[in-house]
Parts: sequence; structure tokens; C-alpha cells
Amino acid sequence: MTYVLSAAKLQSYYRCPRAYYFRYERKLEGAAFFGSAALGTSLHQALAQIYQDWHYQEPIPQIEWIEYCWSQQTSDLTSSQIAEGRTILRRYYETFIANQSAMRRPVAVEGRIQGLLRIENLEFVLSGRYDRLDYLDDGLELIDYKSAREVESLEPDEIDLQIGLYYLALEQHYHRSLKRLSLLYLRSGEKISFDATLDHRHRVEEVVSDLAIELRRDQRWLPFPGEQCDRCAYARYCPAMQPDPDPLPEDAKPESGLQLALSL
Ligand code: SF4
Repeated sequence: MTYVLSAAKLQSYYRCPRAYYFRYERKLEGAAFFGSAALGTSLHQALAQIYQDWHYQEPIPQIEWIEYCWSQQTSDLTSSQIAEGRTILRRYYETFIANQSAMRRPVAVEGRIQGLLRIENLEFVLSGRYDRLDYLDDGLELIDYKSAREVESLEPDEIDLQIGLYYLALEQHYHRSLKRLSLLYLRSGEKISFDATLDHRHRVEEVVSDLAIELRRDQRWLPFPGEQCDRCAYARYCPAMQPDPDPLPEDAKPESGLQLALSL
């Protein structure tokens, strides 16, 4: 039996097991997605091309190479988005490429990575995506481009889970350790880096172990009330919010029956 987990799922379970249950076990619709991501998608694709298609026969590319890659990725954008994207990539070039002695070829760009964890006779596939993976002298650096207007406020525990998931998956795939996770904010040119350690991997193993016990034996999915309840799409079904919560809609996915099936 394979159970697929992403960093977002792990973070959701950590925040509140009951909300996780509503969203992933019963497949209730959650909050709507935010506005158009077209500019962000084009920026990600242009950056992938900048690193992937460069010939690396000169130490660093000229700005014309960045302009060319951008021109290849703008077909779905308005003229103001094209101009905004060009400004963002010029700043990126000045901040992260032009002042380096050389642009290093990455290990990979726009990739997927998976790791396996077996707990309680369940096989968990930990799955993640990354924008760029670079070699460091002593390990790997995972780069995540962010096109949001503002730097997100990140809960330390949640970023730790993301780091731990990548640590585990990269270790299994590349047999090298993740040393750093870096978030590059494209609009502001800020780079925020987090050191990765074995403790991050252990933290993920603990949370997955907790989830395995929930799936396999407990099935309690205890609510964990907190600030997140203000934004929770499932408050009407939640016993911590309502003395008499609404019944789940009829089209909710049936209970998985994992507990019974696995104990056979
Ligand atoms: S309302 Fe709060 S406690 Fe209830 S499911 Fe949502 S996040 Fe969890």
C-alpha cells in the first residue's frame, strides 16, 4: 500500500490533523486558488531556460541571453506583464549572475524528486518539486523561485518539514546531503537561505510516523484549533468550532477503510 505525501500535505497534517482529514482523506473542496499565475509561470520557465540551455563556454552570459530567454516565454502574457517580467529578470541578472565570477551549471532544473519511507507496514512516497538544484562543495542546495509580491511569513516548523522532505528524498536519489534550501524572491531580489541538517529528516520521520499511526490505528484526526481556524474552509464541519457541526456533504469521499484493510 503506497501513500503519497508532499510538503504541503505534511504541513497541513502538522497544522491540524482534522483539516488534513477533511481535505485529503475525505476530499472536501478547500479554499479557492489565488489569481492568475501566468507571470510567475513564465518567469520560472525563463529561469529554467537561462540555466539549462546556456552553453557554459564563457563564465557568465550577457544580458542579451536573459532577454532572449524571456522573449521565448511571453506568449501568454499582456504587454504590461512582459515589461514587468523583463524588469524582474534584469534585477535577477544584476543580483545573482553578473556579479559572480562564473555561472555554475546546475545539477537539474524544474525537477521532481521522490523518497520512500516505510512505517507501520505502510509505504510513504514523499514527493516534491524544485526549481533548481545546485552542487555545493559539501552537498546540495535546493533553489525555490518565488514570484509573490511580498516575502511570505514562514512558520519555522513548516519550513523545517519542507527541508526534511527534500533532505530525505535527495539523499536517497543523489546519495548526497541537502545543505541548504534557498528561497529567491524574484521581485525584491532577496535570497533567504535555511541550513539543512539530519534533524530535519528526523522531524519528517516523526510526523510521518504520527500520520501512519493515525491512518493505521487511531483514526481520531484530532482538531488542533489556532489562528489557522480563521481561514479554514472546513470550520462548519469541525467539532472544535461547532457544538453541532454540519454533516459532511454526500459527495465526500467515503472513509478509506485503511485500518481494516491493513489489519487483515
Ligand atoms: S476549524 Fe481549526 S480545528 Fe477545525 S479543522 Fe479547521 S483548522 Fe482544524
